Amino acid sequence: MKKTLFLIALITVMAFSSSSVFAYHLLGGKWASANPVTWYYDSYIGSNAKTAASAGATEWNSVAYSKVKFSNVSAGKLYITEVNDSTADYDGICNMSPNTYAGTYTSGTITFNKAKTTTYNISGALSSVATHEMGHALGLAHSDGKVIMNPYTFGTGSRYGDYKLTTPQSDDIAGIKILYP
Ligand SMILES: [Zn+2]
Repeated sequence: MKKTLFLIALITVMAFSSSSVFAYHLLGGKWASANPVTWYYDSYIGSNAKTAASAGATEWNSVAYSKVKFSNVSAGKLYITEVNDSTADYDGICNMSPNTYAGTYTSGTITFNKAKTTTYNISGALSSVATHEMGHALGLAHSDGKVIMNPYTFGTGSRYGDYKLTTPQSDDIAGIKILYP
C-alpha cells in the first residue's frame, strides 16, 4: 500500500515536472554574456520604480546562477525608465537593441508605466513586473501559468494577482540556463 502510494506520488511529480520544464519560450536574442548585465535608471523616475527595479535585479541574482547577474552601475547597458501613459495598456515593457528577437543584445530599455502601476504594491505587483521585464531583458519570452514570464500581472491565471509571483520559477530558470549555458 505504501509502495503504491509512493509510486503514484512519483508519477504525479514526474508528470508535473515534465509539463512545466519545457514551457519556457525564448525571444530569439540574447547577450553574449549575461554576467554582468549592467543596469541603471533615470534619476527622475519615481522612487517606487527605482525600488522595484532593484528588487527585480535582486530576484534574478538570488537565483544564484553564475552565468546571470544584474549589476547596478551609474551608466550601464540596460536602461530603466518610466512613462505616465494612460492610453497604453502595459504596466511594463522591455525593448532590446539592436533586435529583441534575434542576434546579440548590446543594450536595452525597460519602461514602467506609472499610469498603470500607481496602485501597485511596490514589493508585490510592481516587483513582479520588474522581475518579469528583466526576464525579457535576458531573452525570455512569455509563457503561461505559474511562471514569472506569465504576461499578466492581474486577472484570471495572472502572474501576481493569482499566483503572487515576484521571483523567477524553476521553468524561468530552466530558460536562462538554456540561454546562458
Ligand atoms: Zn512581458
